[in-house]
Amino acid sequence: MKHLASPEIWFVCGSQHLYGPGPLQQVAANAQAVVDALAASRRLPLKTVFKALLTTPDEITNVMLAANHDANCAGLILWMHTFSPSKMWIRGLNLVRKPFLHLHTQFNRDLPWGTIDMDFMNLNQAAHGDREAGFIHTRMRLGRKVVVGHWSDAEVQDRIGAWMRAARAWHDWQGARFVRFGDNMRQVAVTEGDKVSAEMKLGFAVNGYGIGDLVARVNAVKESAVTALCADYAHAYRIVPALRKGGARHDELRYSARLELALTAFLEEAGAKGFTDTFEDLHGLRQLPGMATQRLMGAGYGFGGEGDWKTSALVRAMKVMGAGLPGGTSFMEDYTYHLDPRRHQVLGAHMLEICPSIAAAQPTVEIHPLGIGGKEDPVRLVFDAPAGPALNASLVDLGNRFRLVVNTVTAVKPPKLPKLPVARAVWECQPSFKTACAAWILAGGAHHTGYSYAVTAEMLEDFATIAGIELLTVDADTRLADFKQSLRNNEVYYHLAQGFRA
Ligand code: MN
Repeated sequence: MKHLASPEIWFVCGSQHLYGPGPLQQVAANAQAVVDALAASRRLPLKTVFKALLTTPDEITNVMLAANHDANCAGLILWMHTFSPSKMWIRGLNLVRKPFLHLHTQFNRDLPWGTIDMDFMNLNQAAHGDREAGFIHTRMRLGRKVVVGHWSDAEVQDRIGAWMRAARAWHDWQGARFVRFGDNMRQVAVTEGDKVSAEMKLGFAVNGYGIGDLVARVNAVKESAVTALCADYAHAYRIVPALRKGGARHDELRYSARLELALTAFLEEAGAKGFTDTFEDLHGLRQLPGMATQRLMGAGYGFGGEGDWKTSALVRAMKVMGAGLPGGTSFMEDYTYHLDPRRHQVLGAHMLEICPSIAAAQPTVEIHPLGIGGKEDPVRLVFDAPAGPALNASLVDLGNRFRLVVNTVTAVKPPKLPKLPVARAVWECQPSFKTACAAWILAGGAHHTGYSYAVTAEMLEDFATIAGIELLTVDADTRLADFKQSLRNNEVYYHLAQGFRA
């Protein structure tokens, strides 16, 4: 995957000097053993490293400042093996800018009922030490994830793993660049937003580029590179006869390959992790990039159609979250509905740009008219997305804040669609089509989404917590009356929330 970093997670253990050097040595050794187990776990996507046993305000502050300063640190796991009076933590927690997870665990799993004495009791105090820590986190209104249970428990590690994936995506966004070719599709509202706010709040930058700069790159691509890429296509896909070498329309496949090579070079030079374009601004290009965009998404770039930079950034973040897991992630659009009362379904697709990471089988390379944009017919990959659990996520700008809306869905195998010339997915919304769509629309969720078989609602919840943005999840437990109340409550909460941290 393009530009995928593997940052570390720092593990810090809190205590105090009251216990004396002997017990503190034992605490440090136990913390190291916990870290060794987490570092070796295949359930955890990032390496955990033991940083320090912290017993004074200065030590805590120094570690937090070091975490901020270390570009390779994506977050911290905090654990209070013993009691660590939490006023010691205030200065460090005020300064730390990295996400943290509070692991409420205990070194021993079972109590040695027959031999337990006060030495044992004094050494294993997370039950109250972590409560003291939790109080100061809450008192300071710090967003964090709390994971409870023994550190060897697979379920506990899965909770940590989900958070690590969110922390990795957050780390990926900080300083990330997204290229916007042209501007927005004219008159469209939901794809707009405040790019200054996004950079302040979310850490990534979106900047516009003239399509002419891309055209110059397209024209500069060498014929030999185009020929080589077309040969790669012939190995990877089934290509319709007209587009094959020697076919009547092979030149149009070559132009698509040329677009892919130019876009790749452009994004590489810009150091970008994603891009947007719009069919209303293609002057000098013969085709709207279809297959080129699909393949770039397949390589890990974020993408949003029609100038949708928020969805481009979100797709990139979701690709980072899902890295290494089965199932892909794509840009998606709720396109049209099957309103059979026994089985309401959504047909998701886009004009062209669905990522082949969600293809159930080998895609076909086809060419068809686009019917919009007034350009030559674009080449595209056509395929079905598979059945299985999936979700849609949408990032919208409400003017005073960003809101992430998530809907868990069950994808089904698409029926035969012999006349539909685009990649597609078919899904059924949770808890039901009517509730999910009403909730989504009341929440202002966009028609563009990040659609994923790999990313879970838990990862997105952790991601929203890290980002400090609003999250609304529509899932199997959603009741519309409660959801509406959440919308009202959140308006008040997010209006006032800045003032609570004092
Ligand atoms: Mn669209």
